[in-house]
Amino acid sequence: MPESGEHNWPGDEFGSFLDRLGAREEESAHLLDRLPVIIYASELGENGRWRYVSPQVEEILGFKPEDFLSDPSLWARQVHPDDRLRALAVESHDALGNRDTRPVEYRMYTAAGRIVWMLDEAVLEPDAAGVPVWHGVLYDISERKTAEIDLQRSLAQQAVVARLGERALKNGDPEALMRDAVALIGELDGVERACIWEVARDGRRLNLRAGLDDTMLGSGRRISAGRESHAGTALDAGVPVIVPDWSAEERFTMPPAVRALGASSSLAVLIDGKDRPFGVLDVHSGERGRFDPKDVPFLEASANVLADTFERHAADKALRHRVLHDALTGLPNRLSFVDSVDDALGRASVSGSPVGTLFLDLDHFKLINDSLGHHAGDALLRAVAPRLRSHLRPGDIVARFGGDEFGILIDRLADDAEAVAIAERVASAFAQPFSMQGVDHYVNASIGIAVARLADGGSTNAELLIRDADAAMYRAKEGGRNRSVLFDAEMRATAARRLETERDLRGAVEREELELRYQPIVNLRSGEVTGLEALVRWRHPTRGLLEPRDFVSIAEDSGLIEPIGRWVQDRAARQILEWHELRPDARPLDVAVNLSARQVAHRGLAANVAEVIARTGLDPVHLRLEITETVLVEESAAAIASLEALNELGVRLVLDDFGTGYSSLAYLNRFPFHALKIDRSFVDTLGVEQEGTAIVEAVIGMARALSLDVIAEGVEKEIQLDELRRLECDYGQGHLFHEALRAEEISRLIATDSLDYSGISSTR
Ligand code: C2E
Ligand code: MG
Ligand code: MG
Repeated sequence: MPESGEHNWPGDEFGSFLDRLGAREEESAHLLDRLPVIIYASELGENGRWRYVSPQVEEILGFKPEDFLSDPSLWARQVHPDDRLRALAVESHDALGNRDTRPVEYRMYTAAGRIVWMLDEAVLEPDAAGVPVWHGVLYDISERKTAEIDLQRSLAQQAVVARLGERALKNGDPEALMRDAVALIGELDGVERACIWEVARDGRRLNLRAGLDDTMLGSGRRISAGRESHAGTALDAGVPVIVPDWSAEERFTMPPAVRALGASSSLAVLIDGKDRPFGVLDVHSGERGRFDPKDVPFLEASANVLADTFERHAADKALRHRVLHDALTGLPNRLSFVDSVDDALGRASVSGSPVGTLFLDLDHFKLINDSLGHHAGDALLRAVAPRLRSHLRPGDIVARFGGDEFGILIDRLADDAEAVAIAERVASAFAQPFSMQGVDHYVNASIGIAVARLADGGSTNAELLIRDADAAMYRAKEGGRNRSVLFDAEMRATAARRLETERDLRGAVEREELELRYQPIVNLRSGEVTGLEALVRWRHPTRGLLEPRDFVSIAEDSGLIEPIGRWVQDRAARQILEWHELRPDARPLDVAVNLSARQVAHRGLAANVAEVIARTGLDPVHLRLEITETVLVEESAAAIASLEALNELGVRLVLDDFGTGYSSLAYLNRFPFHALKIDRSFVDTLGVEQEGTAIVEAVIGMARALSLDVIAEGVEKEIQLDELRRLECDYGQGHLFHEALRAEEISRLIATDSLDYSGISSTR
């Protein structure tokens, strides 16, 4: 066989070769027989008569020279039909005398039906009689051509893998990638179709995932995963499977899908996975023998791109699941709930239908946790989840926010009333008891409802909506639990105002917007003022002077109470020292400062107070800290530790608002209190209600037994004062004596020696 490439002679060289042939007949005849090419001379035209063919034609095409000479149509018949037009294009008078004719490549069938690639290079010259005759050479370039085709094919295949890889990186969605893969591979020359088959869970079938979606229905979309199918073998044995000719195939039955394609040959490779194989990628061709082992690496590379993507997607999914779900109940968590609500709001902004969220909190969950243990608490939460679900519509979403809090998204609502109805339905999920450790427990929930109506031109986001539902839930708790409350316009206004206030409150200390008022505390026996309670005020830049009820709970919720508290303590301590100096001969005044529950629970409280004492030089016995009773109800370890540390410092602790909480007097001796303040609501009843008076009397009696001082707050009327004195209450404060006054006013009272409450002294 001739070496490929050597026969692409330039036209003029070839011309001179022919000239030499003509010139030296003898020698040339010998030469012609030895060249591995077919030399010919034939008349112009598709069926032009052949005048000469060199004997090599037999070796190359399997025909004898006589066959050509006797049958002028033989050549045209043996040319591959696809190449005929190209081969015949040169059969024209235009070529006459043109020595620069381009060589033509075409396929020919040998006598045995094999295909050989010919390079036909000829010049058209008139003979002596003026008849145009082709003088040409036919080279067998099959080998070069095959190599060329292989190269082209492999380049095209590489391009497919590269593009597939690129798409996989851009978009990790398996569905899209599978569609891309079958489309890209299907564009390759001679490839009719590519298909992706996924192995079923039971491992017995391969289900069509991509490639024939338009053509195949029902059972046609399945192939056996066993060795009787080509794909099943690729899956099971993990080796590529080539079916060169389905009509002669004996190992495998032809699946309906492949039959429907009219495939003649196929190639299948495994799409492997880390833990288990994903399935099979196969390609089909209408040509017999289209696929050979050279095609395997390409298809395997494509399968690997798919496998990587599937693997990554599965890992992503697992990770997402972990990030977006609550491990205990398997419900979506808050993060994913927020996403869902945002999605629903996005859709609602188009559709205009309201979106509802419910914020559900179990009542007295802490009690179950504390009395039955955390395992019981966890079991309860796990049992609540499916119950909530079963009381909702399919599209609604239940999430667990943490603790005993759940969120519910109600998509596509008609109106508020429907949201309320759904909340009631959800509440009915708790009508049946929960069985825990063999005992039935009835559990209730408080539910807050918030509805976003984007149709009214409103705008909101998930966080705001959830916060509204949370606020409504709080109302439900306040209202006595086991109920649902709809977040309304008034609550919205309050919430908005709170948010605004919180924003303004940041930096209020630095901007020196806080002030203290001082309310004198009077010794009810002597009328002497023994101390002052410092009460904070906030001079808001636009809203004027604000009272604690306008901002203290906001400060507590936002953590701003910490810096505010430090400022109050420092300011009050300095102020009281100033007044000590104003009256050096009198008994030093005490100053009382209020602490909220949150401050008491804060770890750094005692250290802060110690720092204030150290910095100002105030004797700690003159500093009183008023702590509201609710601190004791919660009885947190941190709060108790705080109280003990404060007591160690030598400051005096006063239990404020006594009677509003649940603490019993007996319980009080467990805490290091020095005094208690009877709440204003009891003082109000004095002399009016017998029962109230009796309570105050009992409190004073028991406090005495516990060696606690008693202070009555909110003393407004003479009759109250009379009663308090009759009951031998030690101290009192209230408008009857003084309102909370500015520091300058107190200073003025001191300067004029009129701070005492002379009214008492005179009656005594
Ligand atoms: P509290 O400690 O029980 O303070 C007594 C409240 O009753 C004060 O209200 C005082 O002005 C008011 N009051 C005094 N005498 C009478 C009276 O005869 N009749 C009536 N109707 N009210 C009287 P204020 O200043 O609005 O303080 C309210 C609450 O805010 C305080 O209750 C205290 O719990 C809290 N608070 C005040 N200042 C601070 C502070 O610096 N830090 C913290 N954490 N809480 C504070
Ligand atoms: Mg107080
Ligand atoms: Mg009070």
